[in-house]
Amino acid sequence: MSKQILVLTGAGISAESGLKTFRDSGGLWEDHAIEDVATPEGFAADPELVWRFYKMRYQQAEQARPNAGHYALAELEEVLGEQFHIITQNVDGLHQKAGSKRVLEMHGRLKRCFCTDCHKRYEMSRTDLSLPVPVCDACRSVLRPDIVWFGEIPYYLSEIDQLLRNCDLFLVIGTSGVVYPAAGFVLTARYHGARTISINPNEPANNTHFDECIQSKAGDFLPSFVAELKQQVLT
Ligand code: NAD
Ligand code: ZN
Repeated sequence: MSKQILVLTGAGISAESGLKTFRDSGGLWEDHAIEDVATPEGFAADPELVWRFYKMRYQQAEQARPNAGHYALAELEEVLGEQFHIITQNVDGLHQKAGSKRVLEMHGRLKRCFCTDCHKRYEMSRTDLSLPVPVCDACRSVLRPDIVWFGEIPYYLSEIDQLLRNCDLFLVIGTSGVVYPAAGFVLTARYHGARTISINPNEPANNTHFDECIQSKAGDFLPSFVAELKQQVLT
């Protein structure tokens, strides 16, 4: 039985909760070019547009419910505790809604924003979203969503590196294997001896790096896979 299980999730695990993935929608994200809504340059050029986009995504995520895939991972954590961690590229908060606690949100979170000047952080629920571009209570500067945009450095990279070096099983679920550094995590885990498995109905771009690629939807595959793993732990 594997001792440390590490999971990396991408937009695909939330697809069955009704949240659109990026790459499956033809390169446009809710009708926007990625450079316009997910880069610091896009925000500088048109903060109102970027805020409209993230207010909409925040509201969608608030209404979304976790699916069988999220719940299966939360159940596994109940059994494994400290031996189980999730790294997610998702910003929707659905792992936590399903009950997962050890989650590193490397690309930020839709339910928060922060001041571009003094860096004070705010909950979206306590921010005046009726303003086209919300402002900081403390210094009146412009707020921005707490999202790691393209060209910015993801959160928790040193914690992630530690987890990758120490895991025995690395599961990569619903990510296209295109966005770095996350797409390269499998190589670190493998180099340090982990068994590596991808779960995705389509082949990810980095498919050759995995020991096994399971072509399935997360919600179809994870409940029985997790039940099997739990069985191995409990017997
Ligand atoms: P992506 O959109 O590039 O890729 C999604 C992957 O999920 C594809 O490979 C697709 O084949 C797979 N997939 C589709 N349905 C699936 C299912 N039911 N089960 C398992 N896999 C399924 O997403 P990405 O690789 O996460 O990277 C793009 C970036 O977009 C990330 O930085 C992420 O932060 C961001 N993003 C986040 C969300 C979210 O928070 N829900 C949504 C869209 C994009
Ligand atoms: Zn401020």
